[in-house]
Amino acid sequence: MENSSKNYVVAIDGKAATGKSTLAKEIAKKLNILYIDTGAMYRAAGLYFLENNLEFNEENIENNIEKIDIKLKYCNNATIVYLNGEDVTDKIRTSDVSMAASNVSKFAKVREKLVELQRNMGKDDNVILEGRDIGTVVFPNANLKIFLVASEDVRALRRRKDLDKKGEVKSIEEVKEELLKRDEQDSTRKESPLKKADDAILLDTTSLTIEDTVNMVIDMLKERVEI
Ligand code: C5P
Repeated sequence: MENSSKNYVVAIDGKAATGKSTLAKEIAKKLNILYIDTGAMYRAAGLYFLENNLEFNEENIENNIEKIDIKLKYCNNATIVYLNGEDVTDKIRTSDVSMAASNVSKFAKVREKLVELQRNMGKDDNVILEGRDIGTVVFPNANLKIFLVASEDVRALRRRKDLDKKGEVKSIEEVKEELLKRDEQDSTRKESPLKKADDAILLDTTSLTIEDTVNMVIDMLKERVEI
């Protein structure tokens, strides 16, 4: 079933480091549409728990969920992430925050709050969202759903490159282990587990360039909506 409103919605899901952000950002830039990085929101919530030395349990979620205010703002094609008014765009890209995001994203209360925010942000504009549950839960009627996959080696290399740029030095083995642990946790949780929507198109980016991937997805979108 397709999105019935006037705007169109593109959903990009997949495991960690499959190239979701790069793809979604490039498409948003080319088509001049809104890009929503839903992982950044879970990262900001995870950071709140880390900074306040809180364990990830129901009680702490219950007592803190109202105190967590997350906003995404857009400036020159870049997304700026705010947690309770503080710009945390850089802080949320560490390995510790990746795991904290996965830990906090298991809880229904957190997901309810962030999914509502995502739906509101995406309700009036042409939009591309990337995450784990966009095609299955957030926008089940999206006009185009893509589920990205890539080999473990390629994913680990891509992630290590990102971490290197931020000055976090790790071995490939360590990076791979962290990715696999997070994927396992994201895929086996009870609330909105990471999985391909039945009507999503599986795209393996292992040996594709970014440009090829972007062009393929734009062609698929052209078959479905006017862009
Ligand atoms: O995409 P990214 O690696 O930034 O996401 C960080 C974590 O946030 C994921 O490992 C996952 O646990 C959680 N997440 C989620 N649902 C989404 C996006 C991210 O549960 N839609």
